[in-house]
Amino acid sequence: MKIKGTCKRDGRDFFAEQVVASGGECPWDGQPFNADYAAVLVESLREAERLGTQLERALERVASLHPAFTLNEQSVLGELTDQLGRFHRDLVRQA
Ligand SMILES: [Zn+2]
Repeated sequence: MKIKGTCKRDGRDFFAEQVVASGGECPWDGQPFNADYAAVLVESLREAERLGTQLERALERVASLHPAFTLNEQSVLGELTDQLGRFHRDLVRQA
């Protein structure tokens, strides 16, 4: 999973892997996205991409088996959507 983000300071887009590679800094302005918790930020982004890919592949395998069921999308995406929504709420609060 290639997670993309947008820097709140300069408004430029980046890939999470760029932040992992830079140790938690914006690839464009060079400033840390969180100065106090850079290690946690980097490890969590790395984990989110890795586990997101695993989730995608697992669902792909399930689908390829053409099982006699459907899956409830909300049960898979609901919590993810809620967590991603938090970023936008933070953005609104800062503005
Ligand atoms: Zn930036």
